[in-house]
Amino acid sequence: MDQVFYRKWRPRKFSEVIGQDSIVQTLCNAVNLNRIAHAYLFTGSKGSGKTSTARIMAKAINCRNPIDGEPDNECQICVDIDSMKSLDLIEIDAASHRGIDDIRSLKNNVNFKPTAGKYKIYIIDEVHMLTEAAFNALLKTLEEPPPHIVFILATTEVHKVLPTIVSRCQRFNFLSLKVEDIVFRLKKLSLDEGVEIGGDALLQVAQVASGSLRDAENIFERLILTYGSKLELETVQNALNVGYENESFDLIRYILCGDTKKCLEIIHTIEIGGNNLRFTHKTLLEYIRLVLHAKTSAEIISPLSDEKVKTIREWGKQYSLSRILYCFNRLLEIKFSRDLMDVLPFELGIVEASTDISNDIHNQEMDIKDSSNIRIDKNDNFGTGISEKKDNVDLIKQKVPEQKVPVSNNGNSSTVINNQDININLDNIEQLKLSQWNEILKFLRRSKGKRFNLSALLRVSVAQRIEKESLIISYKHPSHRNRLEEEIDDIAIRKVLEDAFEQFLGKKYIMQLEVAEFLKTEDKEKNLVNAAEELGAIVIGQVNHKSIQNE
Ligand SMILES: [Zn+2]
Repeated sequence: MDQVFYRKWRPRKFSEVIGQDSIVQTLCNAVNLNRIAHAYLFTGSKGSGKTSTARIMAKAINCRNPIDGEPDNECQICVDIDSMKSLDLIEIDAASHRGIDDIRSLKNNVNFKPTAGKYKIYIIDEVHMLTEAAFNALLKTLEEPPPHIVFILATTEVHKVLPTIVSRCQRFNFLSLKVEDIVFRLKKLSLDEGVEIGGDALLQVAQVASGSLRDAENIFERLILTYGSKLELETVQNALNVGYENESFDLIRYILCGDTKKCLEIIHTIEIGGNNLRFTHKTLLEYIRLVLHAKTSAEIISPLSDEKVKTIREWGKQYSLSRILYCFNRLLEIKFSRDLMDVLPFELGIVEASTDISNDIHNQEMDIKDSSNIRIDKNDNFGTGISEKKDNVDLIKQKVPEQKVPVSNNGNSSTVINNQDININLDNIEQLKLSQWNEILKFLRRSKGKRFNLSALLRVSVAQRIEKESLIISYKHPSHRNRLEEEIDDIAIRKVLEDAFEQFLGKKYIMQLEVAEFLKTEDKEKNLVNAAEELGAIVIGQVNHKSIQNE
C-alpha cells in the first residue's frame, strides 16, 4: 500500500501527538531541562502513540537545535531519524526478535558511541514478548547503562514485563484515544489532504478504530486511496460494513422510552442487513453517553448532525437520570461471546434495557390515578418518583376473594400455565416479599445456566407469587419467559433454582413460568395499577426495585 499518507501523517513534534498531553508535556520539559532518564517505559493500548512519541523523543534529545524541548525537524539528525537512516536510533520489534541472541547483540552494541548525536537510542517495541533469558540480559544492561544510551521500551501488556525492569524505567501510561480525539485528528487530515468527508462519516471511522489512532489513519488512508477525495457517508459505511446509524439512533430512542417491540424490530432489520452488531453496540454506547452528558448539562462534543444533537438534548430533558443510567448500565453489561451468535446477548441486553417497569421512565411524575394513598414526590427526579407512605407494606394487596387473571397461552411446555383463565383462590395465594426475592437473586447472582446468568433471567420477571405447591414467576415478554424456560428444561438447572427457592422460602415449590397478558400493554405503570384495581386491589404503596438493579 502507498505509505505516503502514513509517513506524512505521523506526528513529528510532541505538540502534534494527539490525546497524550500530559505525557508529551513532561517529556518536552525533560528535554528542555536536559534531564534525560536512561530508560523509559511507554505502556498503553495499540495505536495510542507510544512509538511515535518514542521517535520524537529520539529526535528531541539528539537534535542540534531543539526549540523548547521540541526537535526542529530540520537538522541532519532529525532528517535522518525521520527517514529511518539514523545509525543512532535502533528500533527492535521484540515480537520478532525475542531471543537471548538478539539482546546479546544489543548488549555488545551499546558500548559503541553514537555516531552523530549525543545519545544512542534503543526503542524496543512490544517488549513483553521477550523471552525470560532475553529479559534477564536486558536487565543487566539496564542496571549499568553506559551514559550515552537511552532505552525506550514500549508495551501493550505491561503485566508481562518483569517488575525489576519496570522499576528501572520511568514509566508513562498512554491513554486509549477518545473517539472525539480521533475525529479531531481525522478532520485535520481531511482538511490537509483536501478530502471532503462529513462528521458523521469520520465518526464511523473513529468508532471502528476502537481508540487506535493508527488504525483510524490506516482506514482513512485506504478509503482515500480507494474512493478518492470525496467520501460520502454511505460509501464509508459500505466500505466498513457498518451503517444503520439512523436505526441505531432509533434504537436508543425506543430503549429509553421502553418500547421493546420496536427495539426487537430494529435489531432484526440491522441483523438481516448483515450489519455488525458489535459495531451497533458501540454506537449505542456512544449515543447513551451523549444523552447522559445532556442530562448532566455537560457540553455535547460530537460530530453528529445538529438535528441529532438537538434530539439528544431533548432526551436529556425528557428522561430521568436514573432511567438514563439504568439503560447505560444494561448496555454496558452486554458481553459478546465467541461461542454465541452476537444477536443473542445483544437482544437480551436491549430487552433488559428497554424493559423495566420499576424504573420511572420520564422526568415528569407518573400518570397514576389520583389516590389518597399514593403521593407523588415532586422533588424526586432520581428515584421512582413515588414515595412509600406506609412502612412495611411494599406490595399490591389483593382484597377480593375471587377474580380472574388472564394469562398467555402461547407456550406449549408443561411448566407454562396454558389456561386462558384461571380461577384464583386467594386463600392460597401469597406474593413473594421483595426482600425474599432479593435474597434469592443475590444468592443466584453467580449461577450460570447453559447460556445465561440465572439471576439475570429471574430479575427481568415482573411478579412472583406462591400458589399452593407452585412458585409462579410472571414475565411481561414471552422472549424472557422462553429463555428461562429453555434453561430449566435442563433438570440440573431447574434443581439449582428450586433448591435456592427452598432455601429462602423454607419449603419446596415447583417453579412455573407465565406471561401475564395484562402486563403487555404500552402504558405500563398505569395499566398495572388499573389491572390490579380491577382485580379489587387497593394501591397502598409502590415496590421499589432499585435495590435489585443496583446489586
Ligand atoms: Zn533537529
